[in-house]
Amino acid sequence: MEKTLINQNENLLKFDLLNNSYYVNGEWKTSNHVVELYSPYSKEIIAHIPQATREEVEQAIEFAYEARADMEKLTSFERAAILEEIANLFIQNRREAAEIISLEAAKPIKFALAEIDRTIETYKFAAEEAKRLTGEMIPMDAAKNGANRFGYTIEQPLGVIGAITPFNFPQNLVAHKVGPAIAAGNTIVLKPASQTPLSALFLAKLIDQTSLPKGAFNVVTGSGKTVGDALVENNKVKMITFTGSPAVGIGIRDKAGLKKVALELGSNAGLIIDRGLDLTQIIPKCVTGAFSNQGQVCISLQRIYVMEEVFDEFIKQFVAATTKLVIGNPCDENTDLSAMIHSSEQERALSWVQEAVEQGAELVTGGSIENGIFLPTILTNVAPDLKVSCQEVFAPIVIVNRISSIDEGINAINDSNFGLQAGIFTNDIQTAFKASKQLEVGGVMINDVPTYRVDHMPYGGVKESGTGKEGLKYAIHEMTETKLVVWNQQ
Ligand code: NAP
Repeated sequence: MEKTLINQNENLLKFDLLNNSYYVNGEWKTSNHVVELYSPYSKEIIAHIPQATREEVEQAIEFAYEARADMEKLTSFERAAILEEIANLFIQNRREAAEIISLEAAKPIKFALAEIDRTIETYKFAAEEAKRLTGEMIPMDAAKNGANRFGYTIEQPLGVIGAITPFNFPQNLVAHKVGPAIAAGNTIVLKPASQTPLSALFLAKLIDQTSLPKGAFNVVTGSGKTVGDALVENNKVKMITFTGSPAVGIGIRDKAGLKKVALELGSNAGLIIDRGLDLTQIIPKCVTGAFSNQGQVCISLQRIYVMEEVFDEFIKQFVAATTKLVIGNPCDENTDLSAMIHSSEQERALSWVQEAVEQGAELVTGGSIENGIFLPTILTNVAPDLKVSCQEVFAPIVIVNRISSIDEGINAINDSNFGLQAGIFTNDIQTAFKASKQLEVGGVMINDVPTYRVDHMPYGGVKESGTGKEGLKYAIHEMTETKLVVWNQQ
């Protein structure tokens, strides 16, 4: 197999260092088996990626296991300093890190740069939280048999964390695992998505320049099944932190036994739009919520329920704003929307739109693939049992349905197997309170789209959207064991 970059574009050659190797115990390793990595947009080969064997993954776990002792020696001040170093390295290499994302994931460069800015903030939050990792005092004498006891808890690292990440935020969602793991004093074996390994390898290149002990951070590339199973089934791995699709996440939980598992899974996020609002303020948020990163966001705006009095005006303005999106090369500064991650995914999305139209939905705009790019698509009058409504569409497709009451909107959003985030635009405080109580999701956004996220907030879903919370403070807690200490003062 050809083992060098065959792309003639000079811009791509600077990523050559990330080609052909993975990162274990502070060293770059090659593997006997490599596969070609293609750009989703240009379809050119951009790198060759090692496919680790089960034995190679086990070796990485062994190094991470050995490195626990070095991590345990670090004070929280030192762990915070390392996380600051990582944040600073991203500041210095912001453009390159973003270009890698655009290249391997076809994320338009403006969104890739925004992802790196969030990544920097995520590591900074992790650094701050590393210094705030405290237990609590337990009032032992509140119990009848607790006299003369003094109790407190300490948060201890779990040991080796197995992190499995998706393609859609290849740097910031990795940061949501690596940041808290280091902050808590754990070691990590990271398995990035097969389509976006370069971002994880770039992180390794940055971490290699910090004072993190060797073996504390490892990146193993390869197939989800081989690397995933090796991580999930190994007893030295104490926790799996997974972000990805519900099917894979549920499979991991089934195999994990008593291992801790955090699952950040998918959704079909919904939004309610009340009457009496200034739509010009809302429409740009809906366009970004529905179409950024080609709709391949776990909290992408997929279902909008609009009060009937404002429905027609909403559709008119929403379509007008959507058709202004700039579609094209992800590396172009002006591009808003580019290719989805695989052409097979585009075909799948197309078949879902066709099914909807055959079943009576109205296609308002989009619904086709042009020059290899799935056009931003708006459907109305969509029955709740159609795939574009009840499954995770993970494509630039949004449905807009008419409702005659807020209750109807809340019921429609709750009529879902998923429950990650939901949103409501309303000027009525009682309506806002009611929605925040009744929506069955992990997070409710009042006067915002469900796609809103900043990186320190508690984030995680209910139902098939997952278990466990991310957001640095919350993820750190998931990655520690709470140990109780009781002193008997006699
Ligand atoms: P995916 O297909 O589930 O893959 C996620 C990761 O799991 C990849 O690294 C994948 O490796 C790996 N994997 C595949 N099969 C595995 C197995 N049998 N055992 C262990 N790991 C395995 O998801 P994706 O397409 O990359 O990402 C899209 C999904 O992620 C959507 O459902 C989206 O909603 C969800 N997501 C959720 C959140 C959240 O925070 N809730 C955030 C972002 C994305 P390979 O790439 O090698 O197959």
